[in-house]
Amino acid sequence: MEKIERPYIRKIRYAVQWTIFLMVCYAGSKFYFFTEALEQGLIPSVSRPPSIEGFMPIGALMSLKLWIAEGIFDPLHPAALIIFISAIVSAILLKKSFCSWICPVGAISELAWKTGEKIFGRNFVIHKYIDYPLRSLKYILMGFFLYVILIKMPQLQIQEFLDTPYWKVADIKLLKFFTEMTNTTKITLSILLGLSLLYKNFWCRYLCPYGGLLGLLSFLSPVKIKRSEARCIQCGLCAKNCPSLLPVDTKKTIHSPECTGCLTCVSYCPSKGALDAAVSGRIVLKPQMFILSAIAVFFGIILIAKLTGNWHSSITYEELTTLMPLIDTLAHP
Ligand code: SF4
Ligand code: SF4
Repeated sequence: MEKIERPYIRKIRYAVQWTIFLMVCYAGSKFYFFTEALEQGLIPSVSRPPSIEGFMPIGALMSLKLWIAEGIFDPLHPAALIIFISAIVSAILLKKSFCSWICPVGAISELAWKTGEKIFGRNFVIHKYIDYPLRSLKYILMGFFLYVILIKMPQLQIQEFLDTPYWKVADIKLLKFFTEMTNTTKITLSILLGLSLLYKNFWCRYLCPYGGLLGLLSFLSPVKIKRSEARCIQCGLCAKNCPSLLPVDTKKTIHSPECTGCLTCVSYCPSKGALDAAVSGRIVLKPQMFILSAIAVFFGIILIAKLTGNWHSSITYEELTTLMPLIDTLAHP
């Protein structure tokens, strides 16, 4: 048997994931200094980075509805909608690749459970009778947001919301949520961090409604992890190393919404042709092609948005300066 374990796949993923994480940190710090200057009534020496709007998926869902129904593309936070669309298209084409290749929260989550593994010698697994109902939490949260925004909220109300002073400074409010944390937020984040050390991807697996939505959309993806029973040597390395705890070694095709397309299973498989990402179950998608496609789809959409003028906010510096003194009084309408 030809040994073909491919650790380079994991190395490339870490490199991509952490490069994006650093880019997000850079954007976050720029936004922090931008906001600080505004608060002090100074002209910011740095520009406002649009990519920070990626942390506003609920507003993006409202913008998406308005765009589809009325053809109005939110000019205040267009990057929020673009990043949301990029993640959705990635899921429809390439499983939940956003979660394992792009999302900075996914990167922190993975770092946490790997650190926990080092500290405790292993990660813990929640019993399946508790794991199943817990996993449904993210779908319940997702269903709630989809119901309220897509079904209950009339378009006019969405249009009015996206025109409020609150929405204009929603990104700054979000920044303050983290820079001026309440004790409740600190305790909640500490609990989540503790659980993330113990259990693999605790936040992503049980609570993230964004991941829940991408997981359901990923059923549409023609790309799936496929195992050849003829070539599989039943070593179990794929299942043992799958961060989503999927029984890869006993399935012919992984249809699960928990599969993030991380290719960890593929990278560990020692038997050539036993495990691959495949398009429509027939055409093997080489890891390099999968990786390039995941990056190209996500950043390609952002590039198109930049080239067509749908990336930068229309909010002016003067508007923000006027709103800054009122920021603590601006609440969700
Ligand atoms: S099945 Fe493979 S690609 Fe999917 S989550 Fe598990 S290790 Fe990653
Ligand atoms: S598919 Fe899984 S069980 Fe089969 S050879 Fe590859 S790693 Fe081992």
